[in-house]
Amino acid sequence: MRQKIVAGNWKMNLSLSEAKKLAHELNTIEKSESVEIAVFPSSLYALACQEIAQNYQIGAQNGFPKDSGAFTGELSMAQLNNAGITAVLIGHSERRDYFSESNLFLKEKVDAAVLHNLNAFFCCGEPLEIRQNGNYLNYVKQQLVDSLFHLVENDFIKTVIAYEPIWAIGTGLTATIEQAEEMHKAIRSWISERYTKETAENYSILYGGSCNPSNAKALFACQNVDGGLIGGAALKIEDFRVLVAKETWTI
Ligand code: PEP
Repeated sequence: MRQKIVAGNWKMNLSLSEAKKLAHELNTIEKSESVEIAVFPSSLYALACQEIAQNYQIGAQNGFPKDSGAFTGELSMAQLNNAGITAVLIGHSERRDYFSESNLFLKEKVDAAVLHNLNAFFCCGEPLEIRQNGNYLNYVKQQLVDSLFHLVENDFIKTVIAYEPIWAIGTGLTATIEQAEEMHKAIRSWISERYTKETAENYSILYGGSCNPSNAKALFACQNVDGGLIGGAALKIEDFRVLVAKETWTI
């Protein structure tokens, strides 16, 4: 059975004391037993949160593919692993857009993450104009083919895909149930073609993009949606509490 996951991307938000407070609050959260939580704080706070986290995973929002060297300001996947971090976000649209990260560069990051035993949460998703011109399935498939599907099966199964339509991120414009399910079903079919049906069936595919307490239950009930990558609503403990609650996961 595939793992249900609710992951929080805190982005470049919160002070250190706010991050620690939220990390403590997450320890007390009552969640559905079937759901795992992963949280991606600012990398500067990741170790402090790691010390606090009792029953959830702490990841980094970014990692550089080279192990070491003259790359001022970067943190390598090797360093993340060395510091005890177990997961990393790769391919978030904000990295693709604001830092010009290409599919090829993301492939290098995926390889480095795998090499250093980090659980890669790989984000994919189309911009609004691609959604509107109808080419969104091909667009997302290409992102996966270019950056993720080169992995051998044993490495691929350690990754998680988060489908995040860019037009839905931070906009309040959530994908409809039909739009989310269409893409998630397609992603699962591509995994099945590339690997095996069994791998596809057991693989977790998350939805991200303005997911919040008012739409999460319907999204998570979709056959091919295994949880969410959450931005804004992950910063508010009361919202996050709802996203992981038993009631949200009971159909
Ligand atoms: C995100 O940035 O990954 C995200 C899904 O943000 P939001 O939930 O705020 O749309």
